[in-house]
Amino acid sequence: MRQVAATGCFATCRCWADMRSHRTELCFQTHSRREFINITPQVQECLSISGIREGLLLVNSMHITSSVFINDDESGLHRDFERWLERLAPEKPYSQYEHNGAEDNGDAHLKRTIMGREVVVAVTNGHLDFGPWEQIFYGEFDGMRRKRVLVKIVGE
Ligand code: ZN
Repeated sequence: MRQVAATGCFATCRCWADMRSHRTELCFQTHSRREFINITPQVQECLSISGIREGLLLVNSMHITSSVFINDDESGLHRDFERWLERLAPEKPYSQYEHNGAEDNGDAHLKRTIMGREVVVAVTNGHLDFGPWEQIFYGEFDGMRRKRVLVKIVGE
């Protein structure tokens, strides 16, 4: 790693001589319409395989009815999320959504939007540089079919 002086500010710029990227797709097919899955072990495995020690890791759902988010791995909290999301965007009646007709997943699009598309985690010394209790979750809102999550890691 080579240090380069930045001009006109106090920031420093680093040039990576060995910048690399690593791309993985994780696949999920849940047994129920809605589910939260802790995918931290799979993401950690992607990072280990990449060999990248310093950089940034992006995890995003590739579908518009599922989310990737970071929070606590606590079952009570996950039931709270489910109740909260059902109050905001109830699955039924399907007829309440203009989106529905050919589809019945209007609620899932809204739930995905509020729970987010992606997370970015710093990679430090080959590890996911989490705060206390942070874990990465896949949030499915229209499941029982094959869905994909993209993991992209850049660094050196
Ligand atoms: Zn739809």
